[in-house]
Amino acid sequence: MKRIVIVGAGYAGLECALTLQRKLKGEKVHVTLVNRHDYHYPATLLHRVSLGTYSARKARVFIRTVLDTDHIEFAKDIVEHVDLSHKVVEGVMSCYPYDYLVLAAGFTGNTFGLPGVETYAYQMTSMNTAERLLADMEQRFKNYSFNADPARLKFAVVGNGFTGVEYAAELVDRTRELCRICGIDYRNVDITLIGRHESILPMLGERGGALAKQKLLDMGVHYLVGSAVRVHPEGVEVECPDGTMRTVLASTVLWAAGVQGNPLVADSGLPQRGNRVAVDDHLRVPGSTCTYVIGDCAAFTGKGESRPYPPTGQIAQQMGRYVGREIAAVVRGGEPGRPFTYHYRGTVCSLSHLDAVGIVGGKVISGEFAAFMKNVIENKWLFELGGGALVMKKGQFRMRTSD
Ligand SMILES: Cc1cc2nc3c(=O)[nH]c(=O)nc-3n(C[C@H](O)[C@H](O)[C@H](O)COP(=O)(O)OP(=O)(O)OC[C@H]3O[C@@H](n4cnc5c(N)ncnc54)[C@H](O)[C@@H]3O)c2cc1C
Repeated sequence: MKRIVIVGAGYAGLECALTLQRKLKGEKVHVTLVNRHDYHYPATLLHRVSLGTYSARKARVFIRTVLDTDHIEFAKDIVEHVDLSHKVVEGVMSCYPYDYLVLAAGFTGNTFGLPGVETYAYQMTSMNTAERLLADMEQRFKNYSFNADPARLKFAVVGNGFTGVEYAAELVDRTRELCRICGIDYRNVDITLIGRHESILPMLGERGGALAKQKLLDMGVHYLVGSAVRVHPEGVEVECPDGTMRTVLASTVLWAAGVQGNPLVADSGLPQRGNRVAVDDHLRVPGSTCTYVIGDCAAFTGKGESRPYPPTGQIAQQMGRYVGREIAAVVRGGEPGRPFTYHYRGTVCSLSHLDAVGIVGGKVISGEFAAFMKNVIENKWLFELGGGALVMKKGQFRMRTSD
């Protein structure tokens, strides 16, 4: 009986498992999905969890409730190593021999080895980090009446990609709300977004990025161009383009300056490109016919492209579906199908509850319609996992939950 092991139940791994579940029903195969937690979380919602605008309970989707565990085994375990030569996945609790491996362990923050980042900054890399950030922020507002120290209400966000921008925008709304609740003058709150270039969100093109930036500035977010070089308890040191150094005072720092593939990639000796695995056109490790790497761990370069696609939830889902179909075909005795092709369907960056900027069908969209589209994208994923019932239970509609 062929054994298929999938590591990671994020967008890529869970989509792969669900595809295998559909395609291999009744076949004599053993599929195991290994994940660190009992739950899946849509990583694109982590910033909302960290601000309390989407509850952690809602964000967690328990894996055994969406998998058919009669056909797919789920193992809660932390994978420490993949022994490629003996074809064994080594977890803390158990080992998982395989004939086909799908590595879908996702991302981790990239600190670029800069001092203080690990110690003094938060990174948006898991539900646990998001919940810690939320508890810290709420505590600062609750305690303000005792210390009245405005320094404790200063925030710096490093990184002008999706995570940084979505967090900064939603932080404006959330801190306004917390000020109202706790009786604090909102003018004490200060939010600075730090990016290496004048323009933000390159994936939205020049016009989309400029529109999003203007909206952020209108919301009162300060934008500073420069490279963060150090984080310390008082804030972030930034090297400006003219070579001068500036300190952005902040008691809370979110580090969202970049992601890299899971450390498992390096630990298992897989060939790397920028901390990700440079996969072939069937998303396999070059030279292997049974080791697939998908999602944020994979660096896939499309035909005619010079650089790998950036890691996103969208490509992770498509990779998961593709590899599920590929393995199902091969296990049934067929040949691998056509090479993987990424179908870009647009992207939307939320700017809090009722605003967003995105590109859909090649057109820049913004405002409440874009915010609606963002909810549609997120609800579509829930629909794939658990149909209409899951959308009704955990879906996002016009206004999101808060206090
Ligand atoms: C705040 C934020 C906003 C974002 N917004 C967007 C957006 O709008 N659009 C978009 O397309 N993308 C967005 N992204 C990026 C997107 O979330 C990622 O590209 C996507 O989550 C990658 O999917 P994945 O399946 O590769 O990994 P993940 O979703 O990270 O899943 C990896 C899984 O592997 C598990 N795991 C990790 N290590 C181990 C181990 N050692 N053992 C066992 N299990 C392990 C994890 O627990 C997790 O369940 C955003 C990301 C963030 C953080």
